[in-house]
Amino acid sequence: MANKSVSAKKGKYVYLFGKSKTDGHGSMKPLLGGKGAGLAEMCRIGLPVPPGFTITTDVCTYYYDHKRTYPSALKAQMQAGVASIERLTGKKFGDVKNPLLVSVRSGARDSMPGMMDTILNLGLNDQTVEALSTKTGNPRFAWDCYRRFVQMYGDVVLGVQKRPEEDHEPFEVVIEKLKHDRYHHDIDDTKLTPDDLKELVGRFKALVKERVGREFPASPWDQLMGAVGAVFGSWMNDRAIVYRRKYNIPTEWGTAVNVQAMVYGNTGDKSGSGVAFTRNPANGVKEFYGEFLINAQGEDVVAGVRTPEPVAQLKNHLPTAYHELERIRQTLEKHFKDVQDFEFTIEDEVVYMLQTRNGKRTAMAALKFSMDMCREKLIDWKTAVMRNPADQLDQLLAPVFDAAEAGKARTIATGLPAGPGAASGQIYLNADRAVIAANRKEQVLLVRVETSPEDLRGMIAAEGILTARGGVSSHAALVARQMGKVCVCGAAALDVDYQARTVKVDGKTFKEGDWLSIDGTAGRVFAGRVATAPSEIVAGVVDGDEAAKRTETSRSFQQLMKWCGDASRMSVRANADNPKEAREAIAFGAVGIGLCRTEHMFFEGDRIDAMREMILAETLEERKAALAKLLPYQRDDFAGIFRALNGYPATIRFLDPPLHEFLPHAPEQQAELAKKMGVSAEKIHTRVEQLHEFNPMLGLRGCRLGIDYPEISEMQARAVFEAAAIVQKEGTKVRPEVMIPLVGFKKEFDLQAEIVNRVAKDVQAERKVKLSYMVGTMIEIPRGAMTADEIAQTAEFFSFGTNDLTQTALGMSRDDSGSFLPHYAELEITKKNPFATIDTTGVGQLVEMAVKKGRATRPGIKLGICGEHGGDPDSIRFFEKVGLDYVSASPYRVPVARLAAAQAALSKDR
Ligand code: PEP
Ligand code: MG
Repeated sequence: MANKSVSAKKGKYVYLFGKSKTDGHGSMKPLLGGKGAGLAEMCRIGLPVPPGFTITTDVCTYYYDHKRTYPSALKAQMQAGVASIERLTGKKFGDVKNPLLVSVRSGARDSMPGMMDTILNLGLNDQTVEALSTKTGNPRFAWDCYRRFVQMYGDVVLGVQKRPEEDHEPFEVVIEKLKHDRYHHDIDDTKLTPDDLKELVGRFKALVKERVGREFPASPWDQLMGAVGAVFGSWMNDRAIVYRRKYNIPTEWGTAVNVQAMVYGNTGDKSGSGVAFTRNPANGVKEFYGEFLINAQGEDVVAGVRTPEPVAQLKNHLPTAYHELERIRQTLEKHFKDVQDFEFTIEDEVVYMLQTRNGKRTAMAALKFSMDMCREKLIDWKTAVMRNPADQLDQLLAPVFDAAEAGKARTIATGLPAGPGAASGQIYLNADRAVIAANRKEQVLLVRVETSPEDLRGMIAAEGILTARGGVSSHAALVARQMGKVCVCGAAALDVDYQARTVKVDGKTFKEGDWLSIDGTAGRVFAGRVATAPSEIVAGVVDGDEAAKRTETSRSFQQLMKWCGDASRMSVRANADNPKEAREAIAFGAVGIGLCRTEHMFFEGDRIDAMREMILAETLEERKAALAKLLPYQRDDFAGIFRALNGYPATIRFLDPPLHEFLPHAPEQQAELAKKMGVSAEKIHTRVEQLHEFNPMLGLRGCRLGIDYPEISEMQARAVFEAAAIVQKEGTKVRPEVMIPLVGFKKEFDLQAEIVNRVAKDVQAERKVKLSYMVGTMIEIPRGAMTADEIAQTAEFFSFGTNDLTQTALGMSRDDSGSFLPHYAELEITKKNPFATIDTTGVGQLVEMAVKKGRATRPGIKLGICGEHGGDPDSIRFFEKVGLDYVSASPYRVPVARLAAAQAALSKDR
C-alpha cells in the first residue's frame, strides 16, 4: 500500500480545489481518492471545475479507529472550505436570499460502485428552496431540486430503501401514487408541476418520518455532517465489502469525501448532463463516446431511468457546448495520456467538469487503446504492455457465438452492446434468486429493468447481464465492463415483470429458469440457448484459421505477446498432459512443459484396467505384468508429447496421487472389475479396504509410491527414455526432465534418481542413442524447502509445487478448505485465497529460502513453479521478485502468464 501520509500534511484534512487555489494534485489518489485527485488535476490544467474541497481518506481511517468520530480540527477546516466556495461563487450556505447548494460524493482510491455515490442539492430546506425559486425565476426547477434532494438523502443517508420483500424503491412508489392520485395514469417526471413537486416533497418527508422516526433535517450544516458520515459509513456497507472482496481492495485504504458547489443540468433545454469517454471503452475505437440527457442531473444519466442520447448528437442540440467538450476531450488525453471517463454538466450552455478518471475498459478495448496510443506516440511500447490488465486478458480468449448458430437463432430484441462476448443462461429477475441458481450450478443470466448496486452479488454470479433500460454508462454497463461480463443493456423491447417473474418479448413469455442468450458484442438477444465458437484469437492462434489471424484484434494480440517476450526475464511454460495441450500451449508462446502429470494418462480407455490390476497385484510378478501392459501406452503418450514440443523441454512428473484414487469404490464397480480380472469381488473389496488411508494426501503418495514400489518408477523411466530415443531418431530434438514429487529428504530423491539414471543408461545402450536429460524434484513440502541445499547436491532442478506447499505449510487441505476459506476472507484472516494467490508472507518465505539454499549449493540450478499460482498475476510478480527462471500455467492461461511476467519485469525497472 502506498503510504498516504507521505503526501499528507500532518493535521490537514481538507484540500481545496477551484479556479484560484488548488491544494492537491492528480498523483494524490491515496489521500484524496480518485475523484478528489482528478478534480484537483483538472483545476491545475485549467479545465472548468466548480469549486469545492476534498476531505481526505485519513479522516476515514481516523473515523473507524476512533469509534466513528472525527478529528477535532475537521469541522473548522470544513468551515474554511465552505467559506472558500462561498467566496468563489458569491453564494452563502443556508442563505435565504442566495443559497449555496453543494454536492457530496464519495471517492475511494479506485472507483467503487458498491458505495454511496452522490448527494445533490444539499443545503435546501423550506426557506432556501423559495430563495432558489425566486432567484432563478423557475419554481419548477427549485422544487424539482428539493424533491430530488429529499429522495437521495432519504435513501442513502437516512436509509429509506427497498426492503427485502419489496421490488420497488419506496420513493418511487410515492411518485407513482402521486401521479395516479392526480392524473390517473403514468406521466413523464418532467410533466410534474411545481405544485405536484411541492406535494411530493411533503409526502417524501412523511415517508422519511414514518420509516426513520424523526424529521428530515432542515439545517444545512446538519445535512452536510450527516452526508459526510454516510459516505464514511458506506465504506463498511455490505455492497462495498462484497465489491472490495471481489477486487481485493484493502479495507485500510478508506474513502475520501468531495464537497462541491452545485451546477445544474436541469435548468431547461440549454442544460444537460452526461458521461463520456475519450474513446470507446467497449471496443476501443477512437471516437467520442458517451451519452447525455438534456435538462437532467448527472444521476439521471447513470441511473438508467431515462435512456440517454449518444454524445455525438449533442452537436445538434447545443453546438457550442459540444465543441467545448471536444476540446476538453483532446486536452484530457494529451494530459493524462490515457483514456478518460468523465462526467460533465452543462448549465445554460456552459460546460462544467465534475469528474475524470482512467476509463474502465474491456480487454478488447484495452488492447486497442494500447496499440493505437503507442502508434500515436502518446505512450511507449512498455507503457502499452502495462496498459493491458493481465487478469482480464482471458476475456479475449472466451468463446463467441457460433456464427452459423447465431445466424439461425431468432433475434428477439436488440440493445446496446455494453460488455462483449457471448453468454447463454437461465434467466433470473432478482439477484438473490440468481445467486441461489448459480450455487445450484445453473448457468445464469440476470435480467433486470435496470441494475443498481444491490444487484452486485447477482451480477457476480451471472454469466451475463441483460437490462431493458439504461445506456452504455448505466450501472449495469459499467459494472459488467469492469467484471468482464457479457452485457446487453437498454433492450427496450423487453417487458420485465418482477411480480410475475416473467419477461415478455416478441410475443413470447419467458419464465424464470427459461433460457435466453445475449451477444454483448453486437447487442442482440436470442431466444433459447445458442452454441458458441472459439474467439478469433483462439481460432487464429490455436486452430490456425488464416482469416482469423489477420483480424486487427489477432494482430494486436500477437504484437502484445511479442512485446511481452521482449520485456520478460522469466519464461513461461505450460502444465500439459497430452500432445494437444502441448501444441496449444506452444501456439500461445509457452517454451516447454513445466508439469506433465503422468497419472492423468492412466485414466484413458482401457488403461485404467491395467492400472487397477497393477494396484491390486499382491506379488511383484503380478505387478510387473500389469506394468508391462501400461508401458506401451505411456511410451506412446510421451513420444506424442516430444513430437508436439519439437525440441522444447518437458518436465515429466512421476506418479503422484494416492493409489486409492484409481480404485473402484462402489460395489457394482468392484464387481465389474472382478469379472474383467477373473477374481472374486471379495478379493477386490479386501484390497481396496487395505489401501484405505485416513489422510491420503499425507499418506502413500508422491515419491513414497516409487520408494515402496520401485518397479513403477522403473516402468515410467523406461517409457520416458524409450519414447525419447524413438523421437530423437526421427530427427526431433528431445529434452526430458524427470521430476520426482513430494520430496522431503535427500535420500528419497537419490533413491528415485538412481532408478531413473540406471534405466536411462540401459535404454541408451539398448537403443544405441545418446540422450540428454535432467533429473530434478518438486519442492512442495516444507522439509523439502528447508533442506533444499542438501537436495540440490543431486537434484538438477527444482519446480515449486505451490499447491501442496500451500496445503502443507498452512496445514490446510486444498480439497476441503472451500468450506471455511470464504469465512476467512470475510474476516480478512486471509486477504486472498492462498490456493489461488501465493501467501507471500508465509509460503513465500519457504520459496525464498529454497531458492537461496538451492542456488548456494548449485549456482545454476533451474528454478520454476508449476502450482496453480503459476497463472496468477499477483503471484507471478512475487516469482519475478525472488528470481525464478520460469512459471508454468495451464495452456489457456499462458498468455495471461506471459503478460504478467512482462509487467512484473517492467514494474521492477520503474
Ligand atoms: C503442486 O502441488 O503444486 C503441484 C503442481 O502438483 P499437484 O497439483 O499435482 O499436486
Ligand atoms: Mg503436488
